Amino acid sequence: MADEHDNHSNTTADSGTSGSGSDQYEKVCFLCRRPESVTGPMIGLPNDIHICSDCMQKSFDAMKNSNINYKDLMNLTSANVIDLSTLYGQVPQNQKIKKKEPKKKEPAKALDIKDIPAPHKIKAQLDDYVIGQEHAKKVMSVAVYNHYKRVATDTMDEIAIEKSNMLMIGPTGSGKTYLVKTLARLLDVPLAIADATSLTEAGYIGDDIESVVSKLLAAADNDVEKAEQGIIFIDEIDKLAKKRNTNQRDVSGEAVQQGLLKLLEGSDIEVPVGASSKNAMVPLTTVNTRNILFICGGAFPDLEKIIKERLNEQSSIGFRADLKDKYDNDPELLSKVTIEDVRTFGMIPEFIGRLPIIFTLSGLDQSMLIQILKEPKNAILKQYQKLLALDEVRLDFEDGALEAIADKALERKTGARALRAILEEFMLDIMYEIPKDDNIGEVVITREYIEGNGGPGIIMRGQMPKRISAQQ
Ligand code: ADP
Repeated sequence: MADEHDNHSNTTADSGTSGSGSDQYEKVCFLCRRPESVTGPMIGLPNDIHICSDCMQKSFDAMKNSNINYKDLMNLTSANVIDLSTLYGQVPQNQKIKKKEPKKKEPAKALDIKDIPAPHKIKAQLDDYVIGQEHAKKVMSVAVYNHYKRVATDTMDEIAIEKSNMLMIGPTGSGKTYLVKTLARLLDVPLAIADATSLTEAGYIGDDIESVVSKLLAAADNDVEKAEQGIIFIDEIDKLAKKRNTNQRDVSGEAVQQGLLKLLEGSDIEVPVGASSKNAMVPLTTVNTRNILFICGGAFPDLEKIIKERLNEQSSIGFRADLKDKYDNDPELLSKVTIEDVRTFGMIPEFIGRLPIIFTLSGLDQSMLIQILKEPKNAILKQYQKLLALDEVRLDFEDGALEAIADKALERKTGARALRAILEEFMLDIMYEIPKDDNIGEVVITREYIEGNGGPGIIMRGQMPKRISAQQ
């Protein structure tokens, strides 16, 4: 009884301080019990009762349908009205939902040209994470440096510095997305990654082209100023190539290229906040894309064929005609790409014209895959070693094992993306078994284990190596 009384007095004390105390708590709908953060603003009634607009609407609808005489209703005196709060009581303290604290906003700092790291520093930082792709890293470092220099100085006078939007061409899993993600993290700018295949011309099923900007706005915590200095990466851009021999309206290919033009160049875009398409319920804001860096990436399959044809055509003119198969096995063929080739592939000239920096990434070979496994700062092997080190177990990989893993990844033809999946397959048993036995001091992953002909090497604490079977 005493408890009950305490509870009651707590509740009334709290509701009494509706000024400052209840400000910390959300209002809850008296009928459906949903909090204000879910229902939207509530309608306040006497006695600290709140009704959400949905329930209010439903009540009106119900009244309309049940032929209640409104005049009678209006004539009710306050004495006739039942005080609902006395029936149900207030929302108990333990059911109140605390309001989320609004994130403290740091004042947006203007970009200072001295803060932008020099290209060699950007590249050195990229080197810590991204293996190989030297040319791509160099081109990107310079382009990004110039871009942010342009943003910082706002050089839009007579000598307007051109925007450094980029087009990256490289096989799947060669690190295109990874490069952009690493770059954005190092520069501490918001990044939005969009898939060109999901974009369609406005009004068709799919995401509006402008949705990429609202994604960036979301990545910048709805801070327009921050978003305006961010990076937008549009992946699978090759899928927007003009479809040849078709009379149908190409709403997801060429039309999207056309639609992207104004974004790439820089214009005021009205974007929905917190949604991918505009509708009556979503607030809109304006984002200027002039200083947003656009990076487009794609695998461009068959582009090599186009390059080869062009090169062969060139060399067949005149006396070098006999070298027709000269480029057949050229590993550097893709890097010989020109704007003309990309155009033949199906990208429209205006679109390519707005991506002045074109570069290629090379496919990853066995040795690069091995390096990716062990060298980057957050290399997958290092992650597993750290996990086992927490159990005081050493984890080693024989060189042969790394080669076998890389070979398996090459077979899958998805670049470095396959590495993690393969390694996870083999590490599952190990991560399951090792914690069972405190005496195990070291595990050695062998080539035989990866190739399915044996087990990993297990070294007990203070003992000689001993083999266990893969199934254990
Ligand atoms: P894509 O070129 O298809 O965009 P991703 O960038 O998504 O490929 O690469 C997939 C994963 O492979 C990345 O998350 C990264 O871990 C790894 N990776 C790919 N290339 C490299 C590289 N050159 N150096 C380090 N890791 C890489």
